[in-house]
Amino acid sequence: MNRNILLNPGPATTTDTVKMAQVVPDICPREKEFVKIMRELEEGLVRIVHGDPKVYTAVLFCGSGTINIDICLNSLLPDGKKILIVNNGAYSSRAVEVCEYYGLDHINLRMPLDRQPDLRAVEETLEKNPDVALVYTTHHETGTGLLNPIREIGTLAHRYGALFVVDTTSSYAMRPIDIEEEQVDFCMASAQKGIMAMTGLSFIVGRRDAIEASARYPRRSYYCNLYLQYDYFKQHGEMHFTPPVQVIYAARQALREYFEEGEQAKWERHQRVFSAIREGLTELGFQIFIPEEIQSGLVAAALYPEDENWNFEKIHDYCYERGFTIYPGKVEKKGMFRLCALGAIDGDDIAAFFKVFKEALRECGVAVPVKY
Ligand SMILES: *Cc1c(COP(=O)(O)O)cnc(C)c1O
Repeated sequence: MNRNILLNPGPATTTDTVKMAQVVPDICPREKEFVKIMRELEEGLVRIVHGDPKVYTAVLFCGSGTINIDICLNSLLPDGKKILIVNNGAYSSRAVEVCEYYGLDHINLRMPLDRQPDLRAVEETLEKNPDVALVYTTHHETGTGLLNPIREIGTLAHRYGALFVVDTTSSYAMRPIDIEEEQVDFCMASAQKGIMAMTGLSFIVGRRDAIEASARYPRRSYYCNLYLQYDYFKQHGEMHFTPPVQVIYAARQALREYFEEGEQAKWERHQRVFSAIREGLTELGFQIFIPEEIQSGLVAAALYPEDENWNFEKIHDYCYERGFTIYPGKVEKKGMFRLCALGAIDGDDIAAFFKVFKEALRECGVAVPVKY
């Protein structure tokens, strides 16, 4: 099989063993054999963030990562209470949109996109709004590559008696996370990112007691309700509705490979890939949008150079035809492209990429080092 190097922010490059794990004899997911696989997944997903299985559980859903944002927000808000969204990027803005769609009472605490949030402003907002029951933010803002200080935000949330929900879709199973130490009550991810499996399976890891309490909260969705899915799984060991069967086989294989590689070794590999990306960009003169001290170490967003020959589409196509996928930025009115360190890739893949990328720049007539 061709090995494509995906430098987009997920889905990520997978191993052939994960791809092939999907080719299995047909099976009805209500069979005991499948229930065993689901238990193995649930257990492994909690273990990745070092959660105590008596305190935390993993609830699985069929859908892309956004389904987790939808589910956490619509399911975990008691009647008459408010959500505080600490928003410094596109993914927290997506959470704001979810609140707007459901008509959930929320505060959109907007902050600059290229800085970590002002914690004093977070605390003042909590002080002034004792009815905030849920604080929400994004750990790694994939649009820019910024890392947010979740432990500090979580500590504030807990000091003011609120639950802390974090979108960890683009950090989970890449940067080591200890759910309890980080003051996180709920985190989330999808199988196509950190665990390097297939699209279509997402999961929320969170506190059992908070899910149990949410049984009494307003039910705002039928398909996307956290308690209903949790309760069904607890009783039957299965998802309420048809799971993505083959995708789940791939996820099981990916988890086995995750634990084989090891948390620390995997994080070191991602850092190796990211350093190679950062060095490659810097050597060519590209500017990275986020200051180094607050970069996630997983996504580099590079500003488009001021060169009339710069043409992202053409450069993308040149690289794509040679097996490398690069991705546009996600910041309004700012030309950027992204190179991401997700997936089953290593430093030598990045070296091979920059050879092709340099050819693409030459082919387009972009001056190197690039100008701003
Ligand atoms: C990828 C991602 C999501 C999910 O996006 P989908 O398009 O639904 O897969 C959510 N949050 C973050 C931070 C992400 O990186």
